[in-house]
Amino acid sequence: MAAPQAGHDLHQKTLAELSAALHERVVSSEELTRVFLDRIERFNPILNCFTTITREHALAQAKAADRRLKSGQGGPLTGLPIAHKDIFCTLGVKTACGSRMLDSFIAPYNATLIEHMHDAGMVMLGKTNMDEFAMGSSNETSYYGPVKNPWDPERVPGGSSGGSACAIAAQIAPAATGTDTGGSIRQPASLCGITGLKPTYGRVSRYGMIAFASSLDQGGPMAHTAEDIAMLLKVMAGFDKRDSTSVDRPVPDYTARLNDDIQGLTIGLPKEYFGEGVDSEIQALIDAAIKVFETLGAKARTISLPNTHLSIPAYYVVAPAECSSNLARYDGVRYGYRCKDPRDLADLYCRSRGEGFGAEVKRRIMIGTYALSAGYYDAYYLKAQQIRRLISEDFKKAFEDVDLIVGPTSPTVAFKLGEKTDDPVTMYLSDIYTVSVNLAGLPGLSMPVGFVGGLPVGLQIIGNYFSEARLCNVAHRFQQETEWHRMRPEGFS
Ligand code: GLN
Repeated sequence: MAAPQAGHDLHQKTLAELSAALHERVVSSEELTRVFLDRIERFNPILNCFTTITREHALAQAKAADRRLKSGQGGPLTGLPIAHKDIFCTLGVKTACGSRMLDSFIAPYNATLIEHMHDAGMVMLGKTNMDEFAMGSSNETSYYGPVKNPWDPERVPGGSSGGSACAIAAQIAPAATGTDTGGSIRQPASLCGITGLKPTYGRVSRYGMIAFASSLDQGGPMAHTAEDIAMLLKVMAGFDKRDSTSVDRPVPDYTARLNDDIQGLTIGLPKEYFGEGVDSEIQALIDAAIKVFETLGAKARTISLPNTHLSIPAYYVVAPAECSSNLARYDGVRYGYRCKDPRDLADLYCRSRGEGFGAEVKRRIMIGTYALSAGYYDAYYLKAQQIRRLISEDFKKAFEDVDLIVGPTSPTVAFKLGEKTDDPVTMYLSDIYTVSVNLAGLPGLSMPVGFVGGLPVGLQIIGNYFSEARLCNVAHRFQQETEWHRMRPEGFS
């Protein structure tokens, strides 16, 4: 098992440190980009976290960034490399979403989030591996094979943004994008020992982000530190007229509030998030983290989110229902995989979808179609929507008394590859602490707070709507007091 080590080389630095190095001319964007491209070449065969490497594209962007920096036109992110989850459409670059269905799909346009990153002068290193159509908690449903956890390559990195989390943890990308429908940014961040933020629903445009469950999906940043997350979110966030659910509200300067005092802040500890289901060693690390917040002046108190136990059943009706509708577009006619020599139209549909989708995606399409069918709509979908409302109400009530809610991100550390693949329900329980946040549309951040058996443990901080600045602030203050975010796995130095 890898022992945590603190490191100082270029690839081990945070985005904020690399940004300073670029602006001080200690290194050029091209040099920096080559460092990471070389590391991808070296370590990707072991980890499988990238599905597409955009070397030429990256070097061209890096050269352009260097010109921009030289002319004094560069912003804080100009010239910094980033990896993008393969769920975001990237113009002229393969965008496969972890699926055979899209294995030959070259996106004809950029997602808004990608556009924002390009405009800021960031350099795209490539596209990261993920669970097929973001359905999974271990990255094992990918058509491109599983991703390995750099802390122990026999274990999963979490999912569905497992490739992004792995790339950061192994320092083959300093930052990455992810998406979170039920925990896919926070849970892999937790299992790989990095920081990740799922923004408030509507904060970041979903345009060009391949849809899984549209009322839950939200893109967000993944990096080593909360400071880096704040830098990235500032560029990602904002209203987009091409996404009807994006919210027209000014984007604050998330970095400006990083050092705010947290004296007097109240932190709620939901009694439903502690106890039985949580490993006792994880619990001890969460308790220690809460102590750090208390030494910074915050006050912790127990609260209740009484409908927590209903969040997994509600999510696993709502998400498959929306997925069954969203994935109807992959029919073998318009774009994506088409089966060979179809006999007739029905055969074309059946075989294209049968051969193009993997088992988990099919399972969800079937569950979702069933839940939405005329005879069962009221019993399942409508009920799940009612529960969703109750879960939102729980949070609303809690936020009348506390500023933030804190607990574990995941009930366990990274599990072994193959350990849960035969038992979908056990796999679904990996998301027990994350899905309710999506059902309510709230923001949530996960950051590393220690190790159990050499494997990282994450703490989740949930805030009220649009409280991303506060989440970054609290996590940043914590990271100034601790070294967990500086730990790097052995074997990738
Ligand atoms: N693991 C959850 C699922 O399988 C969440 C996935 C996600 O957030 N994209 O649906």
